[in-house]
Amino acid sequence: MIDNFQREIDYFRISVTDRCNLRCSYCMPEKGVRWLPASEILTFEEIWQVCREAAALGMKKIKLTGGEPLVRKDIPKLIAMLREIPGITSVTMTTNGVLLAEYMDALVKSGLSAVNISLDTMDAAKYAQITGRDAFSQVMEGLEASVEAGMTTRVNTVLTGEDVEEDWRKLLSLAEKWPVDVRFIELMPIGMGKKQKGYSGEWLLQRIKDEYPDIRGEALRHGNGPAVYYHIPGFAGSIGFINAIHGKFCSSCNRIRMSADGQIKPCLCYGDTLDMKRVVRNGTGENIRSLLKKAVEAKPQGHCFHQKEKISETKEMVSIGG
Ligand code: SAM
Ligand code: SF4
Repeated sequence: MIDNFQREIDYFRISVTDRCNLRCSYCMPEKGVRWLPASEILTFEEIWQVCREAAALGMKKIKLTGGEPLVRKDIPKLIAMLREIPGITSVTMTTNGVLLAEYMDALVKSGLSAVNISLDTMDAAKYAQITGRDAFSQVMEGLEASVEAGMTTRVNTVLTGEDVEEDWRKLLSLAEKWPVDVRFIELMPIGMGKKQKGYSGEWLLQRIKDEYPDIRGEALRHGNGPAVYYHIPGFAGSIGFINAIHGKFCSSCNRIRMSADGQIKPCLCYGDTLDMKRVVRNGTGENIRSLLKKAVEAKPQGHCFHQKEKISETKEMVSIGG
């Protein structure tokens, strides 16, 4: 373990592509993104090299994200490669779920540890409105396939729009029926997220408590991150809150991020990055470790979402990976 890794910086969030098969209104710019040329994207071998050095420094958990990770060709192969790195205890994925049913068998075989499916509503028309694609039933098939395969499955929800009452109620029903954690994430003022109405976790918890007065807080952490969990008697799964804005959890933040073109990002809120692509293409293992240490040391005290003028990140969430 290295110094700031003392703070248990053990979670590496890696974007494997900047491309996506959806266009969620709070994540993707209105005019779409200009895709990075293929030569700019790290190869599987390069991602593996960076992860191997990160693991040597104490990194344990890897999350693959995007854009949409399942649109990256042969992604199960990368998962299997990462699973074999000594010290890596879990490789998980955050996906929109559209291609999940198709990939489920290969993902199970690859050794994927868990899947987070992003789903903001249970209304097919609202889903199409948010994401620009009529793909709600495909996501539900993916969710069902994941549960049936015995994969640890979580649903990540960002509530947006004027009326979210039906959304949160119906999403909760997934945790009632299945052993799936449903986690509500506060909308972050990054890219298009700045322009939309979001809901605080505190507000939502109160609404849920009004409906389910028996809901109880859980002491147990379920995943890699800062979600706080609750359980409703009779439910198969739990309810989580990731209060990215209002519940400032920076002091326990355990992650760094790497974009598809190999830029290491110490904090979501700031645009500063360190160029790992250059190092992995021209340097040694020691150079990679040295840059990772610098990125960990560069982690700021906390985010600045409350002071929007200080947010220096100008990219959209689709190219950051969430
Ligand atoms: N395409 C994959 C997916 O949708 O799960 C992975 C990438 S996506 C950028 C990762 C996560 O970021 C999703 O759960 C999405 O809902 C979330 N996200 C995107 N924009 C956001 C924003 N402005 N605030 C909060 N979460 C956001
Ligand atoms: Fe694509 Fe995920 Fe962003 Fe939606 S949230 S546009 S699915 S990257």
